[in-house]
Amino acid sequence: MQSVSPLLEHQILARALRAKSIVRLVGVSRSFALGHTTVHALKDISVEIGQGEMVAIWGPSGSGKSTLLNMIGLIDHPDAGAIAFDDLDVRSLSDDALSDCRNRKIGFVFQNFNLIPVMSALENVMLPLQLQLQGMADAVARRIAANWLGKVGLGSLMEMRPDRLSGGQRQRVAIARALAIDPILVIADEPTANLDSENSRAVIDLMQRMNKETGVTFIFSTHDQRLLDRVPRHLLLKDGMLAGDGRLGTGD
Ligand code: ADP
Ligand code: MG
Repeated sequence: MQSVSPLLEHQILARALRAKSIVRLVGVSRSFALGHTTVHALKDISVEIGQGEMVAIWGPSGSGKSTLLNMIGLIDHPDAGAIAFDDLDVRSLSDDALSDCRNRKIGFVFQNFNLIPVMSALENVMLPLQLQLQGMADAVARRIAANWLGKVGLGSLMEMRPDRLSGGQRQRVAIARALAIDPILVIADEPTANLDSENSRAVIDLMQRMNKETGVTFIFSTHDQRLLDRVPRHLLLKDGMLAGDGRLGTGD
């Protein structure tokens, strides 16, 4: 934490103060029935994440990271409490409006990359563009996808299928795919869980660079504490509770 220069700390805090809210959770709880018992996966979580932030959700396995990301990503709903996404009360949205919001505004990155094996890297990145904007000319989708693959350093491997790419390269394709739809938020659930430590760092660095270059908010989860040192804000989950919300430079 002490490695951050006062200038960077000032910039991070200034950006946070100016930021529009991307997602706000107020008193969010979520439980699951498990046989005769109830698992309290999230307990009374209140947190706000602003435009342009890069946030790591850190906690051990079972601490509620995926459940929290599913709430933020409008995939699951709280039992108690409320969520505002892009300043809209999620409770006021119909199912169609909700999935439209999710498809247009949120890019997802997964632990196991979730690429389509029979498609090239380029076709994988083109796919959500074509699904989202039906009628988009092939050539346009191709140009946008190629541009994003170039930005993540895969310009020369665009025609490769995923099985010809390393894990780190596959996750770069997934990050390009998430960004190609021009989202306001990218959610990544343990994006480095299947990568070695060198590739894990490279993926976090790439997300950090994309966050700086595009201003898109990034929220990712990890249980690897070693990945946190470059990320400006950490949310610490413990048994479904928010046990810490720290920013670089504030000595969390
Ligand atoms: P993490 O991602 O940090 O490993 P999760 O959010 O997946 O944690 O899970 C938090 C707790 O909620 C765990 O005890 C898990 O078993 C439970 N849980 C999560 N999803 C479900 C579900 N769909 N049904 C039952 N229990 C669940
Ligand atoms: Mg998880």
